[in-house]
Amino acid sequence: MFKKIVRPFQNVLLERELCVGCTAPLAKAKKLGNLSDNRVMVECKCKRRYVYEKELVAFKRATFAEEQQILSMIAKGEVS
Ligand SMILES: [Zn+2]
Repeated sequence: MFKKIVRPFQNVLLERELCVGCTAPLAKAKKLGNLSDNRVMVECKCKRRYVYEKELVAFKRATFAEEQQILSMIAKGEVS
């Protein structure tokens, strides 16, 4: 029940490129690095992570796998 109410609101925030946790503009979020040529991971000041999809021109929440990928890239110094 709770999820059904919250989810659309989160989508509205993401469509407006705002963090779903603190509503800060994601355009100002810290860039962590590129997952690929078309996908950039950013981290909000509240530590929530998002992936900007250049092809979709949209942000989405980072998945666990994507977070693991960027952490491993940072550890190896592969992040540009
Ligand atoms: Zn935030």
